This record gives sequence, structure tokens and C-alpha cells, in this order.
Amino acid sequence: MSDMPALAATDPEIHGLILDEARRQHDYIRLIPSENYASQAVMEATGSILNNKYSEGYPGRRYYEGQDYIDRIETIAIERAKALFGVQHANVQPYSGSPANQAVYLALVKPGETVMGLGLPFGGHLTHGWNVNFSGMLYRAVQYDVDPSTHLVDLDRVEALARKERPRIIICGGTAYPRIWDFEGFAQIAKAVGAILVADIAHIAGLVAAGVHPSPFPHAPIATTTTHKTLRGPRGGMVLSDGTYAKEIDRAVFPGLQGGPHNHTTAAIAVALKEAMTDDFKRYARQTVANAKALAEALGERGFRLISGGTDNHLILIDVTPRGINGKPAAQALHKAGIECNYNTVPYDPRKPFDPSGIRLGTPSITSRGMTEREMPLIAKWIDRAVEHADDDAALARIRAEVAEFCQAFPAPGIRI
Ligand SMILES: *Cc1c(COP(=O)(O)O)cnc(C)c1O
Repeated sequence: MSDMPALAATDPEIHGLILDEARRQHDYIRLIPSENYASQAVMEATGSILNNKYSEGYPGRRYYEGQDYIDRIETIAIERAKALFGVQHANVQPYSGSPANQAVYLALVKPGETVMGLGLPFGGHLTHGWNVNFSGMLYRAVQYDVDPSTHLVDLDRVEALARKERPRIIICGGTAYPRIWDFEGFAQIAKAVGAILVADIAHIAGLVAAGVHPSPFPHAPIATTTTHKTLRGPRGGMVLSDGTYAKEIDRAVFPGLQGGPHNHTTAAIAVALKEAMTDDFKRYARQTVANAKALAEALGERGFRLISGGTDNHLILIDVTPRGINGKPAAQALHKAGIECNYNTVPYDPRKPFDPSGIRLGTPSITSRGMTEREMPLIAKWIDRAVEHADDDAALARIRAEVAEFCQAFPAPGIRI
């Protein structure tokens, strides 16, 4: 991390800020569930000379010469994605998760046709039809919700809405949903109404790859994902499919939506997929869920109100208002205490998205550092103390010192301090 001599010479300001950020990532307990620590190998591929090459098209069908090695790299990434997720077709070119979703819309839905996804306030993603996003602007978006008392997706409600609205695609998956997705149940509903099921596994791809969360395949013909969340690769996206819509998807990504693929990212995706095939990765994915359950339990014992009562995956959603604080000041207090999370709406939140009732926590990053169930009660205790003393900067600074000291024992992948 510190060995970036050319950068230090050319641009000491940016060099210094990167070192500061490395130190910050090292000294904080990072609980933002969409974040992780990519391995040194992934970082080396990302920072490689593959950045220099333009490769519009697909392996064997490029619009530029000089693709001997790039074609091999992209083919390896595709083959690894297919093997890891057990699918017939993979497109590894989407620049990130949102463009992967955009490509699926472009491939399958005409402007004005109906799309159906989980509403943002209930844990869905912006790209699932939210009104300020392209998906809600260009398409007729209808949104399902979660049950008001259990906070679980209720397939009866999903089916009723699908039968009434007859969407072209149904998207399942979310960004703040702590429970298992019933892909088979969604597939039955999609079949009943003649819709195409799209599973967005951006958050849980690493868990799916390791067999810790059920796979969307063979139930959904298409799944989209990011490559940088639980999958622990570079910032990127993929569309995985059973091949039914392979042509449409490939054409939608290029030339429909994007120009040249980011070859350095493609190589790093290939590396991350190789890592994800190992027993080490499977252990990490299992431990991520075990840690989330242990952290949820410890927080529950301390009186925190867990949305849906707990978690089945890597993330935890908490309504902090019963503790006499709102989500944003709680997240800010935690930050001062060296614990990083994000404030978040909770289902049926009476408060506004910029000042909501909840916080969202996740365990992928701390698990990548080697933390286990043993450490979760201590982290819960710090969270409890920070929320309790949210107005007491001295108390928060004391926690922060303890947290920084604690973090020294858990090396962060990709960061050499
Ligand atoms: C993170 C996420 C995305 C978008 O990914 P970006 O890489 O941020 O564009 C899409 N869908 C879901 C469910 C996500 O959690």
C-alpha cells in the first residue's frame, strides 16, 4: 500500500489521501454490508496495464486489433463465472451492478412496459423501478413491499400484484433485506403471469457462490450481480443466465449500453472468481453469515429492534428509534466511535430517507479480516455504548481508541500498513 513510489512522486496529494484512506479502512470496524476488502491479487490485476487496451466487442469478435491476450482473459472470466454459478452464459462486461440491471431492462423490456421490483423503502434497489432512477422513469414500474408485521416478502402479496399488473419482468433481490430469497416461489409467480424472473444477487453473490444462500438457478433464467460486494472482487458487474436471452443480453451490454469493456476489471473479476472457488472462500462465506447471526443476537440481547427479528445472510437492519435516537445521528455517533455503517430506512418508516429510523450493518468486511463469532459480542457492546453516548464526544473518542487498538490484530486484505 505504501509502496507507490511513482504516485508519491507525481502526485503527493493524491498519494497521501490514498494512504490516509488505507489507514482509515484499517483502523475502523467497517460494517457497511455492500463493502469488503478485495485481495492483493485482485488489486494487482485491477491496477495492471490492461487499463491501456480498448476491446469493443466480445472474444473473437472485436472491433480493434491486438486482442490475443485480452480475449483469453475475458474467456477465462466468462468460463469461471459459468462454472461457479452453474450457468450457460455469462456477460462480465457491465461496468457495475446498476449497468448490469440496465442491460437486462434494455434486453427484455420496451420503454413504457411494466416492470415489478421490491420498493426501495422496503429494501429494494434504486434500479428496481424507483421513481428517480431510469428504471422508474422509462418503464411503468410497480413495486411490491414486505409484510408490515414480519418485514418478510409475502409471496401472496407479490402474486396478487403480479396478476393485477402483468409485468414483463419481475425482479427479486434487494439491498437491505436480511432474509433468504425464495427464488422458486418467485419463479412460480413469474410463470403464472407470463413474466421473466430476474434475480438481482448483487449483495449475496458470494454467499450464493459458496452455497450459503440458495442459488437463483435454475429457477430464474437471468441473474445480475455486482462483483465487489460479498463476491469480493473489483468494482464491476455481471449478467448470468441460462442462455435463453444470451444474444439479447450481450447486444444490450455492447453496443446497446456500453463501449469498451474495462479489461483490467475483467482480469480482476477472473481472479476473484478463482478465489471464490476455493474452500477458503466457502469458509469465509459461512463465517460471514455466522458472524451476522452472532452480531444480530448480541445486539438483540442489548435491546436493539432488529427488522424481521434477525438475519439469514450478511446484513442486519435495525430500527434505532426505540433507543431514543434516529438513524442518521446513530450512524454519525458510530462513525466517531470508529464503527462504520450507513443510516437506512426501515420498512414502513414514518421518517424521511435522508433522516430515517434505521441503520444497516453487515459482516463481509470484518469477516475478510478474520473476525469470528468470538468478536461479535464486543462489537455489539461498542455499538450499544456509542448509541447510548451519541452526544458525548469524549465517550465516543474513547471507544474509537479501543476500536483502533482492536483492529491491529486483524490484518486487512490488500492493505499493508
Ligand atoms: C449494489 C446493488 C446494485 C448496484 O450496484 P452498483 O455497483 O452500486 O451500481 C444493484 N442491485 C442491488 C440489489 C444492489 O445491492
